[in-house]
Amino acid sequence: MCALALMLPASAIPADAPRNRFDVVVVDAGHGGEDDGARGASGLLEKRVVLDVAQRLARRLRAQGLKVVLTRDSDDFVPLETRTSVANDARGDLFISIHANSSRSPKPRGMEAYFVSLEASDAGSHEVAERENRALGATAPASLKLDPLSAILGDMAVNEHVRESNEFAKRAQAELAAIDSVPSRGVKQAPFVVLMGVRMPAALLEIGFLSNRKDEKALRARDRRDAIADAVTRAVLAFRDDYDRRRGVASAAGADAR
Ligand SMILES: [Zn+2]
Repeated sequence: MCALALMLPASAIPADAPRNRFDVVVVDAGHGGEDDGARGASGLLEKRVVLDVAQRLARRLRAQGLKVVLTRDSDDFVPLETRTSVANDARGDLFISIHANSSRSPKPRGMEAYFVSLEASDAGSHEVAERENRALGATAPASLKLDPLSAILGDMAVNEHVRESNEFAKRAQAELAAIDSVPSRGVKQAPFVVLMGVRMPAALLEIGFLSNRKDEKALRARDRRDAIADAVTRAVLAFRDDYDRRRGVASAAGADAR
């Protein structure tokens, strides 16, 4: 489906809305089509659960008056460059990539929020980025050429995006941790290529470990998927209010109250 067809009609946004007001969220469901992503111990596929959670999240954000663009809305393989170009063409204010985790050990559980950086914050984060990047057919982080990347990260707008990405990741992680029965795994940094190509604040959420039976069982349930979508929605709305305040525009919530 054309990405534009997934957006709310323009009438949902005040006609006089300044261009820099927070109003477009790009929701990226990881994997799809021939790329299953991680496979749970009892067979749950990452591509299925993340699409369902992405669609639940999109419905909630639209109900709040935000425009939402999904990088995929069906079980299709979407190349990396399409994901990033859809996001950039939509002039997104926030990019949220949704994934489910997997580990060689069946023990790790819980959710993680990532924002992009050149260096992984720990060995585990490095592994997660390697796995997710590999699925996209992207160059492994270890062999990424540093020059263009340093140039990108040296850009002032991008530095601001990194700061805001960190802020959103923190909010999302706090909201997600509040619904989880296991301790928060924290906000981490890693070189995810899907986050590097987008010109907006961006975070990648790992919504649980499919390699852990308890997490996988939880992720099969509709109420857990709803709880995740609710948690991320709260984080987006809080981020929107801060984002608009920093730019000196009334938030959409304020505009609705006129
Ligand atoms: Zn993934």
